[in-house]
Amino acid sequence: MDTKLQNLLDFNKEELDDIVKAMGQPKFRSGQLWEWLYKGADFNEMTNLPENFRKALAEKYLSGKQEIRAKLCSALDDTVKYLFNLGDGNIVESVLMKYKYGYSACVSTQVGCKMGCTFCASTKAGFVRNLTSGEILGQIISMNADMKIRIGHVVLMGIGEPLDNYKNVLEFLRKAQNEKGLGISYRNISLSTCGLAEKVIELSKEKLPITLSVSLHSPFDEQRSEMMPVNRKYPLDKLLDACNIYTLSTGRRITYEYALIEGVNDTKEHAERLISLLKGKLCHINLIPVNKVEGTGYKKASAQNIAAFRQILEKGGVNATVRRTLGQDIEAACGQLRRAAVEQKE
Ligand code: SAH
Repeated sequence: MDTKLQNLLDFNKEELDDIVKAMGQPKFRSGQLWEWLYKGADFNEMTNLPENFRKALAEKYLSGKQEIRAKLCSALDDTVKYLFNLGDGNIVESVLMKYKYGYSACVSTQVGCKMGCTFCASTKAGFVRNLTSGEILGQIISMNADMKIRIGHVVLMGIGEPLDNYKNVLEFLRKAQNEKGLGISYRNISLSTCGLAEKVIELSKEKLPITLSVSLHSPFDEQRSEMMPVNRKYPLDKLLDACNIYTLSTGRRITYEYALIEGVNDTKEHAERLISLLKGKLCHINLIPVNKVEGTGYKKASAQNIAAFRQILEKGGVNATVRRTLGQDIEAACGQLRRAAVEQKE
């Protein structure tokens, strides 16, 4: 695949109108092309477009549908994990999950990650580049096309730090929500951040009714800085101030993600400190049994400890749930499959 080809999903409708016009086609062709792009069609499948137009498009552009490099289906539940080829040699990872309310996609926002969280597989091989808005959309569109479904929920919890790719992620959110785009309600979109406080404040000004998830993982600055280097720049007081601004400005409840690691952050003191930090705030804690990542030495807290931790939080007036683990047999946790593929290539 030629990497100089531009991805048509990177353009908005007006820009596509201009491209189609410049190629000497009438305006209605732009509407037809747009529909095909969001259906995940290849140029040769766009049967109501003239053949010479399709050929000309293919010479300059990509349709944005991504080539499946690997697809793993869980035997335990309906989770499907995809590795997509981006066309420049890079690969990206996405997960499709099935819930009672429909399909939900977990998508990546960067190739690799700079954040360096010690427990996370996505950051181990370093950072390569940002994904464009079209490449983030392309993951959803490609899964819709492959499974012949319509994904109605999206979580930006795959590889990468969404707020470190702010402009493209914002563009993605707008296109995903646009009824002429994917038509996914903002309320069905969650953005997860490791805590780039300044960007959280910037995001609050956009007033999008998306759900903001903040990866907390420790209520103590010293420990959080060890686990998540971002905490050195934005310690807990700065981060929680930014989160307050976010809730005040959007009225939305924040989800704090907390991966429980045995003997590291699952003690009574941790639960009590969380209560003193979060009590009375419009928020909710999502407890995640930590996924094992080779080389970290971290172990999942026992089911008993997780239940006890949750109980302390609830008794202390902080709402908490335990995340169901899906796709355990296919390494569906973020970053793990790409990491394995990158290491295989090296
Ligand atoms: N960069 C963003 C989004 C990607 S990670 C963020 O940090 O939030 C998505 C979620 O998975 C985050 O809460 C992250 O902390 C968590 N995570 C990463 N590695 C994990 C692991 N080994 N076990 C459990 N959760 C993990």
